[in-house]
Parts: sequence; C-alpha cells; structure tokens
Amino acid sequence: MKLFGAIEAGGTKFVCAIGTEQGNILEKVIIPTSTPDETLAQVIAFFKDKPIQALGVGSFGPIDPNLDSPTYGYITKTPKPNWSDYNLIGVLKQHFDLPIGFDTDVNGAALGELNWGAAKGLSSSLYITVGTGIGAGAVIEGNRVHGLLHPEMGHISVRRHPDDNYQGTCPFHGDCLEGLAAGPAIEKRWGELANTLPVEHQAWEMEAYYLAQALVNYILILSPEKIIMGGGVMKQTHLFPLIRQKVKEMLNGYVSKAEILTHIDQYIVPPLLGDNAGICGGIALAIKA
Ligand code: ADP
Ligand code: ZN
Repeated sequence: MKLFGAIEAGGTKFVCAIGTEQGNILEKVIIPTSTPDETLAQVIAFFKDKPIQALGVGSFGPIDPNLDSPTYGYITKTPKPNWSDYNLIGVLKQHFDLPIGFDTDVNGAALGELNWGAAKGLSSSLYITVGTGIGAGAVIEGNRVHGLLHPEMGHISVRRHPDDNYQGTCPFHGDCLEGLAAGPAIEKRWGELANTLPVEHQAWEMEAYYLAQALVNYILILSPEKIIMGGGVMKQTHLFPLIRQKVKEMLNGYVSKAEILTHIDQYIVPPLLGDNAGICGGIALAIKA
C-alpha cells in the first residue's frame, strides 16, 4: 500500500497526517502553530522515518505556489508574527528527499473534495472556509487556480446590509467580505461569541446576505460545478438554507441550470470529508506531486 504525508498548515494549528491513495487517513497529529522553528521541529519529527512516497502541504496564506518563482514554497507577507517570508517548503526539502506538493489550504481542500468528497466525479469545485478568516480555493476543469498569486476570494467587496453599520475587521480593507463576515466580525459586531448567538438572531440573516453575495460572484466568475462551505462559522448549519435561498434570489434566474434552479440543496453543501477536508487536500496534493 502506498502512503502519503499531508500537512494542513493553519494559523492556530498544523495538522499532520498519513493517508492512503484512496484518501483514508491512518494517523493524525495536531501541532500548535507557535514560531516556525518550534512548529517545524515537531512536524519533521512526526514524518521522520514514516514510509511515505510524497508530501502535500496546504497552507494558510498568502503563499507563493508558482514553481518558477524565486520565492516558490514561501509563506509570503502574512500579518501572523514570525511567519512572513518563511520558506516552508525549503525547510521541509532539507529534511525529506521526496516530491512535495504545495498549495493554499483552500485549493487543497477543493481538490480533496473533488477526489473523494462532495464534488467527486466532477471536474470543477469551489471550497470556501468561513472561520477566523474567509478564504476560498477552486479547481476548475481539473486545474487548481493560481495565476498571478492565487485567488484571495475572502477579500472581495460586498454590498452592505442596510442594517449594518459595523466598520469591519480587515486590516487592509475594513469592510471587505472577511472584514464583515468572518467569525471575529460576527463576534465584534454583536459582542457575543458566534456559537452562542441564537438561531433566530439577526446576525445570521446578515451573515447569509454577505456569504450569498460572495457565492454569486464566484458562480458568475468561475462557474464551479459544486460549492462546498466549511470552517467554524458554517457549523451553524441553519445558514445553508438561508444562503441557498439568497443565492437564488440574487441570481434571479440568470444562471439557468437545474443545479441552481431546482437542486441548490445539492449545489451548496457542507464538506463531505467534514473536518478532514483540509488534511485530505494535503494527501491529494501529495499524490499530485
Ligand atoms: P480557523 O479559521 O482558525 O481554521 P475555524 O474555522 O474553526 O478555525 O474558525 C474559528 C472561528 O469560527 C471562531 O473565531 C468563531 O468565530 C467561529 N466559530 C467556531 N465555531 C463556531 C460555531 N460552532 N458556531 C459559529 N461560529 C463558530
Ligand atoms: Zn480584506
């Protein structure tokens, strides 16, 4: 049996796992994200002597995933202390003489869900996480979308909800999508933890209003065959019907496909891989490498 190593590099934790070609996770550890030296020492200790064919890394960003770039494999300009301009893949290469795949955490998750999850059998999928931040990745016609850098779909502009005068949390843009709709924005706007706000609270209608606008933009620009929504905020599963309804209203029949007009409950879905979407993405990146 061929085995692959996966790293889901996040701002609060690094998840490391060993998995199979079928995307089954056999072993998993969680390492807190502290300084790069401390964190990587534990990551390297986990994979040392493991019989893996390749490693796949899905990382928080911004990153440089462009193979031709001098800073390929780096976490680039991140507000996260100590991690700016960090050569993540370079450090791993020093310890592992293996093919290493590298991409954003969300591109990895989109690929994992396409191989083994909610988008299985399709050629295009979009994965969005709504948590501490908002990020989305896409595989379109089998290709992970990169381009100049990689998409930063959490930082798009959205039309304001008429009842919202919260200024937004984004240090770069204030009231971009992430600034208005990531977990910390919900909590600062309402002065309450997101997981304690009751289902009938206005926060959720507002949240759905922002997320639906984002999805409408992604649908119109990228035309994904499936949209998968994960992250802590989406644990509020009552958001799904609200978002689906608003997406339909906002598109107003313009995208005339049954997936949206009649089966939207199967078009905008939670990750089938659950909390393993990211780490399965790492396995998928390792297999690609
Ligand atoms: P990260 O983005 O760091 O990977 P999460 O996706 O879990 O982690 O996002 C954490 C954020 O999501 C928290 O700041 C909180 O605002 C929100 N969150 C976490 N769990 C829930 C929940 N059950 N209901 C609503 N919001 C939640
Ligand atoms: Zn922003």
